[in-house]
Amino acid sequence: METTSRCSSDDHLVIIGNGMASHRLVEILINQPQRPRAITVIGAESVPAYNRILLSPLLAGDMQHDALTLRDADWYADNGVTLCLGERVETIDRENRTLETDGGHTIRYDRLVLATGSRPTLPQVPGIDLNGVHGFRDFHDVAELEAIAQRGGHALVIGGGLLGLEAAEGLRKRGNRLSVSVLQRSGRLMNRQLDATAAGLLKQALVKRELNILTHAQLAKLEGDANGHVCAAVLNDGRRLPTDSVIIAAGITPNAELGREAGLNTDRAVMVDRYLTTSDPAIFALGECCQFEQHTYGLVEPIWHQVDVLAAILSGEANDGYREAPTATKLKVSGVALYAFGPTDPEPEHDELRYQDPQSGDYRRLLLRDGRIEGAVLYGDTRHGTWYFEQALAGTDLTPYRQALLFGAADVEVLKDQQNDTPHLSTSEAA
Ligand SMILES: Cc1cc2nc3c(=O)[nH]c(=O)nc-3n(C[C@H](O)[C@H](O)[C@H](O)COP(=O)(O)OP(=O)(O)OC[C@H]3O[C@@H](n4cnc5c(N)ncnc54)[C@H](O)[C@@H]3O)c2cc1C
Repeated sequence: METTSRCSSDDHLVIIGNGMASHRLVEILINQPQRPRAITVIGAESVPAYNRILLSPLLAGDMQHDALTLRDADWYADNGVTLCLGERVETIDRENRTLETDGGHTIRYDRLVLATGSRPTLPQVPGIDLNGVHGFRDFHDVAELEAIAQRGGHALVIGGGLLGLEAAEGLRKRGNRLSVSVLQRSGRLMNRQLDATAAGLLKQALVKRELNILTHAQLAKLEGDANGHVCAAVLNDGRRLPTDSVIIAAGITPNAELGREAGLNTDRAVMVDRYLTTSDPAIFALGECCQFEQHTYGLVEPIWHQVDVLAAILSGEANDGYREAPTATKLKVSGVALYAFGPTDPEPEHDELRYQDPQSGDYRRLLLRDGRIEGAVLYGDTRHGTWYFEQALAGTDLTPYRQALLFGAADVEVLKDQQNDTPHLSTSEAA
């Protein structure tokens, strides 16, 4: 890489991070008629952007490594984008509009995008730095987890949310005489997405696969052996669980330090307005490293909206700005289908509709407010999930179809047709 930007124009866009948000932004920008004249992407990982979401099926052995790559390095070059991989940006000098990398390079920017993502949140407990304690975030982590699976013994996953369960199931599937336990602090799995019934069904399914699930289980400390390798986890209630490795999947921490140290407004992450602009008008942020109002991000759906907004802004197009919208969740564990969005627990004014078929294991629960869907939890048959989500986003008043709602769009359409066939009474007839 050159030590100073090769771009002497006033239109050099530099993007820090070559993850999912950065990649998608570049994909859109290069097709814009008014694209920035020069684009440089600097990524700390040594490989070009890949689909991080698919690390779970990769770990489970359901996908091959290469299938995750979004674009190879040649694609960037072919599209006039300078890609610097394996290099971490260490400082930003806002006054001179330059940044420094750990490779000793200084790069000048005119506009800068922070797309540095996040990292696993490490519980602040004694022993967290021991060998054998891992995250689940990148290719390197997957390689470590694969080695754990091959060695066998016992693995303990901290966190019974989406990521923890995908890690646990991947380890179990790939495991060679490996037993896997999941520690969940709350009383139910995926407590931010599922109600108690769906969480119970999920637990049953995972226990059947011989995952050991411990709820109400809070990590107090990790113990190490004489070689500094983790050998046990101790819980708040005093239980001691011997283990050969620990995988932390208990939330994420935005990589906001770079912005913070450069003097940008930060809270939990780098603060942006609805145009994804930080407190410095030449610097933007998006993805898991940014915070909009009170929101930080951990799923790609809202990030794709941010990318669309920022691509328009960087290309000089008019845009209404980013708006927060609900997000739906799926679990990527083969053989377990669930789909959820909105609040998990009903409020007094919610109209709650439920269906459960113990034979098939199907479960559906809808929360409606004034006839409009606000939340859904589907376990087993999730076919109608997207339709419910669309109705929720559109704010459709479904009051006339309430009785058919649990059976999805097709039944609602039948009911609509029946109602349309029924001659309507005029006001005077009705009276
Ligand atoms: C195992 C797994 C499964 C997931 N499954 C789902 C799912 O099913 N659905 C879903 O919606 N989301 C899922 N996610 C979340 C999703 O992957 C993230 O929301 C998304 O990757 C965020 O994109 P990002 O660009 O903000 O961050 P990232 O993709 O993490 O990219 C940030 C990049 O910036 C680099 N970087 C950081 N600091 C610097 C620096 N100083 N200099 C240079 N480079 C730097 C990082 O190395 C990284 O490559 C999953 C995540 C994981 C880990």
